[in-house]
Order: sequence, then C-alpha cells, then structure tokens
Amino acid sequence: MDYSDKQFSIEIFPPRSPEGKTKLTDTVNQLNTLGPAFFSCTYGAGGTTRETTKDMVSSMLAAGIDTAPHLSFGGDGENTILTLINEYKDAGAKRIVALRGDLPSGMNGERELIHADALVRFIREHTGDHFQIEVAAYPEIHPEAESYDADIQFLKGKFEAGADSAITQYFFDPDAYFYFLDACQAKGITQPIYPGIMPILNYANIARFSANCGADIPRWLDKKLSAYGDDNASLQAFGVDFITQMCEHLLAGGAPGLHCYSMNSVDPVSTLWHNLGINTACASADSTAA
Ligand code: FAD
Repeated sequence: MDYSDKQFSIEIFPPRSPEGKTKLTDTVNQLNTLGPAFFSCTYGAGGTTRETTKDMVSSMLAAGIDTAPHLSFGGDGENTILTLINEYKDAGAKRIVALRGDLPSGMNGERELIHADALVRFIREHTGDHFQIEVAAYPEIHPEAESYDADIQFLKGKFEAGADSAITQYFFDPDAYFYFLDACQAKGITQPIYPGIMPILNYANIARFSANCGADIPRWLDKKLSAYGDDNASLQAFGVDFITQMCEHLLAGGAPGLHCYSMNSVDPVSTLWHNLGINTACASADSTAA
C-alpha cells in the first residue's frame, strides 16, 4: 500500500535515571532510523516529570530529532508553564501535545485540573503560530465525559482554541475509531485525528492501563489474551499479528497515519512498521547498501 500521504510518529516516556537516559537515547536513535515524522515525549501526571521530560526533549532536539513535549498545567502557575513553553521554543521545538492531564495518584480532589482547550489558547496567545499543537481524542470516549456528544463537542472546542490535529487514546476496536471519525465530521471537525497504537506486550499491564484510561478490551480479545497466562512470547506474537491487521484496516479505511506508543522499546514499533511496509527510511538505507 502507498503510505506517502500518511504520517507516522512515535511516543516515548521520559527516563527515570541517567542510566535510563543513556538507554533511551540508544532506543530513540534506533527508532529514528525508521524515519518517523516526529517523536513525542510524555509528561508525568501533575507535572511530575517536568525536568526529565524537558531534559529528554531538549537532548533530542539538540540531536536534530523533531520532538514534541507533552504538556499540561498540572497545578503549575501560568508563569512556570510559559517559561517552559519558551524554553521549548528556544530549544527548537515546533510541536506540543497539549493536555489537561490527570492528577498524580493520591491527589484526587486536591487540585483543580485545567482543561486542554485553555492550554491550547494559552500557547497560541503567547507564541502565535509557532507550534503545531496536538490534542488528545477518545474514540471510546473519555472516562469522565458527560456523554458521547459532549466529549466530541469539547474536542471541537480544542480545535477552535487553535489545535491543529489530534492523537487518540489507544483502542482495539477499529469500528470505534471509524464511528468516532464520522461523528467528528458530522460536528464539523475537519482536522486530522491520528490513531494512537498500543502494542500488546503483557496482559496484566494492558488490562490495568485499559481499566484506568477507559480503553475497551473486547470480550473475545480479553479472553484470548488472558488465556496465554505466563506465556508472554506467544501473547506478544499474537499481539503483533492483531495490531498489524488492525493498523492495515485503519490505514485502508482512511486513518491519516499512526501514532505508535513505543513503551521505550524498539521492537514493538520496528516490527509493526516492517509488517506494514512503512519502514521507509530503513528500506532506502538497505537498498543503498545493496
Ligand atoms: P480535556 O480535553 O480537558 O478533557 C478531559 C475531560 O473533560 C473530558 O471528559 C472532556 O469531555 C471534558 N472537557 C474537555 N474540555 C472541557 C471544558 N472546556 N469544560 C468542561 N469539560 C471539558 N496524561 C499525562 O498525564 N501525561 C501525558 O503525557 C499524556 N499524554 C497523552 C497523550 C494522548 C495522545 C492521550 C490520548 C492521552 C494522554 N494522557 C496523558 C492522558 C490524559 O492526560 C488524560 O486522558 C486526561 O484525563 C485528559 O486529558 P485531555 O487533554 O484529554 O483533557
């Protein structure tokens, strides 16, 4: 399939130690040979990784790798966030993933979260058109949403505030994504909405994440994954096939690209891209070598 009009990007999370940074830098360098449109680096709930996200993003930008920091107010004041935004701008960042974020566990109710549309407006007010701004979207609807329609209306509000495109929460049901795209179009949303793709690496982790973030594991898939028990190798082999087929379906059905959660490993992304035939940078490097 010709993917020349599609955008493929990769997400990482910041390292927890200097040794972790060395390892992650090596992972990023390997992933970068796949030729992603950009990387993004997450931001801990409540701003808990403010320094480590900034450090990783700055190092990647300094190495010439297009990287988008994720950002939320998270309880910080406007001055702190504006300083951070300006630091990213000075470091060469061209994109930001703007979020409301969540509170760190144990802090429920202690802080008021500021919705992502306000952050998008804040970035536009202070930096004009400098940044390409991505926001989050939820094909299976955000767990706190009042209703399906209200969640889409708030997504529209994020675009009206100045966002350029959206990346979705991960999902395992392509129909949920296609239905969501139609519903967004019906509300007048024309900006691209990139599916977020989560690799299936471990049943307990995926079940826990999914319960927290509201991503549905279809019943048949849950049964299938739980049946692998401790046999992670077989689970992962099945997971790669399942995710590859889902991505083929998404891309053939009109998804504008994919945003792949790497979980800070090379294999989940490189195998998927190889299976899909989107390993363009490596393919051309190989043919030069030959
Ligand atoms: P919002 O868009 O503010 O929406 C949150 C809820 O409020 C929704 O239920 C929505 O319907 C409602 N809402 C939206 N706007 C308004 C409004 N103006 N008034 C009233 N209600 C409103 N979390 C992290 O901590 N760090 C990360 O790096 C991170 N990266 C993510 C990347 C992606 C692609 C995705 C999909 C999620 C990410 N998350 C991250 C998780 C995200 O922070 C949580 O899902 C969070 O609960 C909502 O963030 P949001 O930006 O979607 O919030």
